[in-house]
Amino acid sequence: MDLFEYQGKQYFARFGIPVSPGGVADTVDEAVAQAERVGYPAVVKAQVQVGGRGKAGGIKLASSAEEVRSHASAILGMDIKGHVVGRLWIEKASDIKREYYASFTLDRGARKHLGMVSARGGIDIEQVAAEDPKAIARVDIDPVDGLSDAQAKRLVDDAQLDAEARPGAVEILKQLYRCFVEGDADLVEINPLVLTPDGRVHALDAKVSLDNNAEFRHPEWAEYRATEVLDEREQLARSKGLQYIGLTGSVGIIANGAGLAMSTLDVVNQVGGSPANFLDIGGGADANVMANALEVINTDPNVRSIFINIFGGITRGDEVANGIVQALGRVNIDAPIVIRIDGTNAQQGREILKTHESDRLISKPTMLEAARTAVELANRAPARGRA
Ligand code: GDP
Ligand code: MN
Repeated sequence: MDLFEYQGKQYFARFGIPVSPGGVADTVDEAVAQAERVGYPAVVKAQVQVGGRGKAGGIKLASSAEEVRSHASAILGMDIKGHVVGRLWIEKASDIKREYYASFTLDRGARKHLGMVSARGGIDIEQVAAEDPKAIARVDIDPVDGLSDAQAKRLVDDAQLDAEARPGAVEILKQLYRCFVEGDADLVEINPLVLTPDGRVHALDAKVSLDNNAEFRHPEWAEYRATEVLDEREQLARSKGLQYIGLTGSVGIIANGAGLAMSTLDVVNQVGGSPANFLDIGGGADANVMANALEVINTDPNVRSIFINIFGGITRGDEVANGIVQALGRVNIDAPIVIRIDGTNAQQGREILKTHESDRLISKPTMLEAARTAVELANRAPARGRA
């Protein structure tokens, strides 16, 4: 789950990372009130989850209430790379002497945490990596040992931050690493981390991506869930408690078990199709779960066929087949459905489906045949369009 800048800064502050005082505003009047509170000059910042807000005109300095008013009204409602601005963050403006970059993330390949620091902050780190990879200092951190003081010091030395910024930057790196580990994040990034003319170092931007698997130990994340940016399909899936990820293809996918769902995406790709989603219905494939899953997939106008791939284990094939039949009686599905049932009681399951088969409901004995049929149907079907 990705946080907005203002949420990321609040998260940083919990771990002692210095950020500028500020507040959120959803209207022009609220923006002015926040600026009056923090003082001038103030910065008016668009809260959208996309980089390059500055260049797009979504970040403006204001030295008076009138200027806050005019910037806030220009930025609220602005479209930045497809993200419409509905919320602003107003903070006390900082004087900037230098802009740096700092981050921690996972290096899955190395099975380590990766720390990165650069003296070339304020611009896209991908651009720095492409133009001048040596300008990014890196360190691999063993998650068991954590970040040592020596490693933090070496990072800022290797990155050649200005001498006066180094002690402050080392402190922030240690706090940022704690935020990454104890805060259960997949990514924490400060760009820019700034040095002020009076020699202080602090975070001017915040990018935080939280690890959803750790949600059970963070009841306070509920507030971030409430503002999460999801598309219509994902919202519906979330409200029904389904493990759903929207994709851009035309074959809707329902499978039991995350591994089987992943393999199903692969086999659909392999036979020349493109999956519209990832959806794992887990162990209990009863009529309720199946109806919910079909309903979510049915809201996606790109879906031209649906592939239900079930491997019976503890959940028996006949139960699943009954669930599918009942679910189809409850929801009206626009796209044709291809079903493959294997594993425990698969034969009984197929018998149950047999009496309901048509050109809209097709059963295939193997995953590959089912995938081929689903892809053929998707390619043959006209665009569904939505009223
Ligand atoms: P992003 O472009 O979307 O990543 O937004 P940032 O929050 O990183 O801000 C972009 C740029 O705006 C920064 O690199 C700064 O140059 C500038 N900026 C942001 N806040 C301030 C501030 O308080 N004072 C000054 N002078 N510039 C700022
Ligand atoms: Mn930034």
